[in-house]
Amino acid sequence: MAFLETIQFIKDKFNSKDFIPLHAPVFNGNERKYVMDTLDSSFVSSVGAYVDLSEKMIADISQTKKAVAVVNGTAGLQIALQLTGVQRGDEVITQALTFVATANAIHYNGSDPIFLDVDYDTMGLSPQAVSDFLEEYGERRETGTYNKKTGRKISACVPMHTFGFPVHLDELLKVCTEWNIPVVEDAAESLGSYYKGKHTGSFGQFGVFSFNGNKIVTSGGGGMIVTNDEDLGKMGKHLTTTAKVPHSYEYVHDHIGYNFRMPNLNASLVCAQLEQLDSFLANKRQLANDYAEFFKTQGITFRQELENTNANYWLMCVELENLEERNGFLKATNEAKTMTRPIWQLMYRLPMYQHCFKDGQQNAEFLEERIVNIPSSVRI
Ligand SMILES: *Cc1c(COP(=O)(O)O)cnc(C)c1O
Repeated sequence: MAFLETIQFIKDKFNSKDFIPLHAPVFNGNERKYVMDTLDSSFVSSVGAYVDLSEKMIADISQTKKAVAVVNGTAGLQIALQLTGVQRGDEVITQALTFVATANAIHYNGSDPIFLDVDYDTMGLSPQAVSDFLEEYGERRETGTYNKKTGRKISACVPMHTFGFPVHLDELLKVCTEWNIPVVEDAAESLGSYYKGKHTGSFGQFGVFSFNGNKIVTSGGGGMIVTNDEDLGKMGKHLTTTAKVPHSYEYVHDHIGYNFRMPNLNASLVCAQLEQLDSFLANKRQLANDYAEFFKTQGITFRQELENTNANYWLMCVELENLEERNGFLKATNEAKTMTRPIWQLMYRLPMYQHCFKDGQQNAEFLEERIVNIPSSVRI
């Protein structure tokens, strides 16, 4: 059978003959203690010390001025886009090679995604593709950049740091600044990833993290919006907490708000997880180094971080020769109870996004046929 050595290597690394998942959470710190705290305090839901603490911890880790805990990363993206000024009928630039939540969050605001190509090396939004698109379609007006062809405003750009590998942020921000387009980083996968020493998510007007069960740290379900604009951050908190105006007894609300706050119960879990982020990162980096050594002997490309970046190695991946090799690899590994998964189908293949604009997509389509995620959990 093919890929036998690979399967054996992974089983050895995880010291297991049983099923090996792609990414399983590890709860070996203060998780039980903090969750019990919330039960004992009876503040399990909308207010509580752990919500505040989780926001402080994330602002500290990402070196941003304000963090807002939300119910999940998708909701965080939706609100961040709304706060940058995305309105019904607008267009928002993003990559087609992403998890569906990126495109959905754009759609929730009544805007349509513009799908542009990724770079081969980062697997994230290509600054060159954005520049090429804007040179051809962009028109600068006093109120922002518009699409000459559709007449619609291009009101935001959402790069996504695929599997924790940072996009070329300097180049991307340069293009978006030139065209006066705010950036919302979909940093759902990149907690613990740095670009030139600065944390991903802290470059754009907003960054959004996810604490879903399969991410590098989890709150069961949850997310966080970060920003260096304190007023916008406060507005984010307001909108995600039903836009309630403080009053000693009346129910006063001054916007159409959302019930998107993270429950304290979930926040308690993520606080305990965040305490272990550094050790998770080191643990995963060790596995990534071992994989890199091993895959060299197999003639398979293991994807590693680029110069000037620190990847969190959230989901590790290999690049196979072609679609046939990829399919063979997926079949052999999954049959051997070693979980592997192909990268996502490109967004414009999904029925609800088929009508959206897309460019050439050479790199995205190349990667779509070749990239496979392999078991990446923290090992205990
Ligand atoms: C996980 C993820 C999200 C959404 O996060 P949830 O917390 O699951 O809503 C958004 N974008 C990307 C790229 C993701 O991987």
